[in-house]
Amino acid sequence: MRKIIIIKYGELTLKKKNKNFFIKTLKNNIENNLSNIPHETYYDFGRMLIDAKEEYLDEITNRLQKVFGIYEIILGYITDNRDIENIKEEVLNLISKKSFQTFKVSTKRSDKTYEINSMEVNKMVASYILNNIPNIKVDIHKPELDIVIEIRYNEVLFYFDGYKALGGYPVGTLGKGLLMLSGGIDSPVAGFMSIKRGVKLEALYFESPPHTSEAAKEKVIKLARKLAKYNGEVKLHIINFTEIQETILKNIPHEYLITIMRRMMYRISSIVASRIHAEVIINGESIGQVASQTLTSMKCINEAIRLPVIRPLACFDKTEIMDIAHKIGTYQISILPYEDCCTIFVPKHPVINPSISKCLEYEKLIDVNNLVYRAINKHEVIKVNLEEQKYDDIL
Ligand code: ATP
Ligand code: MG
Repeated sequence: MRKIIIIKYGELTLKKKNKNFFIKTLKNNIENNLSNIPHETYYDFGRMLIDAKEEYLDEITNRLQKVFGIYEIILGYITDNRDIENIKEEVLNLISKKSFQTFKVSTKRSDKTYEINSMEVNKMVASYILNNIPNIKVDIHKPELDIVIEIRYNEVLFYFDGYKALGGYPVGTLGKGLLMLSGGIDSPVAGFMSIKRGVKLEALYFESPPHTSEAAKEKVIKLARKLAKYNGEVKLHIINFTEIQETILKNIPHEYLITIMRRMMYRISSIVASRIHAEVIINGESIGQVASQTLTSMKCINEAIRLPVIRPLACFDKTEIMDIAHKIGTYQISILPYEDCCTIFVPKHPVINPSISKCLEYEKLIDVNNLVYRAINKHEVIKVNLEEQKYDDIL
């Protein structure tokens, strides 16, 4: 008998029509994640089995805990000997180290030609257990120990409870999004939450050298690398925002600096998003967090573009966001003290109820289209992987 990993899909199995696509995508994501560990994967609509040498099982389990679409990870046991006497012995062996007072045996036969039916196997194994372990009884409704026996064509599988994994949908099953990734606390969390819903991310960062440093950019690359654990490779688009910011600072009334700056960010994001075939923009805005995130501000900024903007953190408190940032390991990176392009140009009294007509009036003072296209044409793309960061200019 040897150990084997069993994965359950949970919510995935509810998506009737797309089931096949979801499960195949999950399998691909798992294979990518485990690509340097020798293993075999078998799957059907209910669950997936991962067979590998025992020495690799811990590492595999660790990695599977970062794969969205997996609901439960169970360490099971598998044997080639399907003889009922052997099944009884193996079960007894496995449970003799466990402490429990009530139990239940649930047998499934994927091989319906197996000579004993599932009910009979349940009864035979349960009475063998009762005869060999004192002071326990069967409870079919709420057993402390649920013993699952699965009779397959060439093997028998045994397992008990597993533990909860990340859940969510397999990355890529719900399309692509462009994450506006700053060096702050919020946007990596917003990214994580969208990946969880099956959205594959590319990211976009606005830098303003020399007002922002190389260290600030490194910080964003580090954050992208954390997201790559869940997303797979993250393509990080870097836009030089200096000319736009300096032009805005020179020409736009100060209380509208941030509003117009964010409308420019949205315009650029929306063009990059359509070029990479992303269906949405995702960002870390949260209602009321700062002046540019009042509902009136968000509406006014959003009116610069037509693409939908998903704001996973819209209704979260900062403390809730920080909790998630800690869990996904981005918090310590986000609090590093490097200037970000917004913090440099913060006006003393930003407008909290901007009007769209004022925005349009002020934007006549700058050459919006040319500024946007000049910024996009200079843009750089870095592929951020889990392993050593790889710089790779592809534009
Ligand atoms: P965060 O919100 O990530 O903590 P922040 O507080 O500096 O960073 P805000 O001013 O709250 O950012 O901006 C709201 C959102 O706009 C961010 O969550 C992010 O999605 C986007 N954003 C802000 N600055 C940048 C930038 N320099 N590059 C890319 N996206 C940005
Ligand atoms: Mg913020």
